[in-house]
Amino acid sequence: MEIAIAGAGAMGCRFGFMFHEAGNQVLLIDNWKEHVETIQHKGLVVVDEKGSRQLNIAASLPAESHGLFDLLIIFTKSMQSEEMIKSCRHLVNEDTYVLTLQNGIGNLETLQQFFANSQLLSGVTTFATELLGPGEIQALGSGDTRIMQVNAKEISTLNHIVDIMNQSGMHTKISQDVYKSIWEKVAFNCVLNPLCTLMNHSVATVGKYEKIQDVMKGIVDEVILVAQAEGIYINRKSILSMIEGAFSPSLSGRHLPSMLQDVMNGRASEIDYLNGAIMRKGEKHGIAVPYNELITHLIKMLESVKINQELIE
Ligand code: NAD
Repeated sequence: MEIAIAGAGAMGCRFGFMFHEAGNQVLLIDNWKEHVETIQHKGLVVVDEKGSRQLNIAASLPAESHGLFDLLIIFTKSMQSEEMIKSCRHLVNEDTYVLTLQNGIGNLETLQQFFANSQLLSGVTTFATELLGPGEIQALGSGDTRIMQVNAKEISTLNHIVDIMNQSGMHTKISQDVYKSIWEKVAFNCVLNPLCTLMNHSVATVGKYEKIQDVMKGIVDEVILVAQAEGIYINRKSILSMIEGAFSPSLSGRHLPSMLQDVMNGRASEIDYLNGAIMRKGEKHGIAVPYNELITHLIKMLESVKINQELIE
């Protein structure tokens, strides 16, 4: 299968190298010139429990990418999708499947502006990865992936894609409950990403706060109410236990969420697709979401302070 990865950062490179190692043709597409040139000249360096290895995978800038692909996976941050799609539409025709595994609410709606429902796949993954520098990623542990076809009339291609994802080690299942899984992950991310970012600390350290339960339940209960108003019923117990599990230092406790890394490096975060989306949908349905509203403002204030600090100093 010919697969293009649109946005070859941490997760794009992770999925890209797994497809590549299973024998698929992969093109990593990114507009970070240094990263693309490093992969072109030295290969992609993958660090995982097996050690470190260098893989010869094709990479290019969007404007220099050519060909028609069977599958295009969007792996930019949510707010970058639109620009990315516009720059790689020449790689796609009506037979190309387009998959989003991005975190947050609203990713599928962005893709629907450009592609027919019959070619769209939406999903969620628990794989995690860190970008160590240009051309180098750390593939953390394992994970699993759930996907569904938005217009489920023709499923033979979907089955083929799932087979290829499983041959590539992505532990993928077709799930008609993908929206539920997406919203459960949103609830998880609405707690851990902004709290670690505001505290400038790892998941495990934030979890040590004696009243962390009160804070996480406050955020999660609002997400559950908004999800219900959207017709999606998510499981409070499993979300809370997923969050508690993440506090364990032996699991992902030492992890610094990408929101923290983005804000500290002066980049925009995905807050508008997480707590910010809960705030907007809360307003739409007349549901008060004070925890998520305050958190959205605090993260946006932190982004603004980071961007404007030169003016203040
Ligand atoms: P990232 O920031 O590491 O990668 C995004 C890449 O897209 C960058 O390399 C950037 O240069 C590129 N990009 C942005 N705009 C572009 C454009 N217009 N043209 C070309 N390239 C462009 O992000 P990530 O951590 O890989 O996350 C991607 C998505 O996956 C996010 O929605 C994130 O929430 C989700 N996710 C991340 C993880 C993780 O562990 N990192 C886990 C699960 C889900």
